[in-house]
Amino acid sequence: MQLSDRSALIKEKAIDLGFLLCGISKAQYLEKEAANLEHWLAQNYHGEMSYMANHFDKRVDPTVLVPGCKSVISLAYNYFNPSLQADKDAPKLSMYAYGKDYHKVVRKKLNQLFAWIKETFGDIDGRVFVDSAPILERDWAKKSGIGWIGKNTLLIHPQKGSFFFLAEIILDLDLEYDNPMSDYCGTCTRCIDACPTDAIDAHGYLMDGSKCISYLTIELKDEIPAEFKGKIDNWMFGCDICQQVCPWNRFSKPHNEAEFIPKEDLLNMTKEEWQNMTQSTFNSIFEGSAVKRTKYEGLKRNISFL
Ligand code: SF4
Ligand code: SF4
Repeated sequence: MQLSDRSALIKEKAIDLGFLLCGISKAQYLEKEAANLEHWLAQNYHGEMSYMANHFDKRVDPTVLVPGCKSVISLAYNYFNPSLQADKDAPKLSMYAYGKDYHKVVRKKLNQLFAWIKETFGDIDGRVFVDSAPILERDWAKKSGIGWIGKNTLLIHPQKGSFFFLAEIILDLDLEYDNPMSDYCGTCTRCIDACPTDAIDAHGYLMDGSKCISYLTIELKDEIPAEFKGKIDNWMFGCDICQQVCPWNRFSKPHNEAEFIPKEDLLNMTKEEWQNMTQSTFNSIFEGSAVKRTKYEGLKRNISFL
């Protein structure tokens, strides 16, 4: 079978399984991206995310992470959900965290796709990843032609927007490779202008992760620094602003994943109910959710900072 036929079959199967996008790159050292990562770390833009500095060699080279690999399959899985929290004054939750933990949901799909690849192409070695290992996911997605990295530093697709998770299969199968697409940010600066903590560089394409609300409300274990008081824009877990203002997200379509449908109870919580949330309400609202990562105390900390 020709390489182009293999790649076409894999992409067709990925879409059948519910992935939004699929592109493929040759597995190799990411030279330019390694320099960018070094610069980002040197500026301490990773804050307390010390894991970002770990495994540098694996992060910039998939052949170190998965010895013998030939190809990186990049996949996107839609989480766009137009449902809004009923109380517009309620502390906000990033849309990706509305439903069940994406790690489990997307990993299941990845395993299905990889099992199919092995059935179809023989004894293939490889690994699946969803935000689960040192991988420059956005850079691989860009190389694989499933979007460009916008000034907000997120992957954007001209028809699908950016409300999707990224995932990868790194495997020892030769495939036909895709080319990156153009950058369509143009002269737009909406995300830079709208970011309430000035986390995005004035020229875009660079983020001070240590100022981002997602970092402050999810990754940061200490108290949120006082300089951010009044700048968190009522977000208690994550932040969607630089996606909400991006004109390319006007094309986003609702996801089709039952596991991502938010509980009515979650959407109906009022501001007062969030403020008075007990451990047992937290456990019931966020059962199986990625929000459990902050733990009850973390979410309470975030709510009381608003
Ligand atoms: S997620 Fe929010 S805080 Fe972070 S860069 Fe985007 S707009 Fe700024
Ligand atoms: S808001 Fe504008 S500048 Fe920012 S990522 Fe979207 S298109 Fe690019």
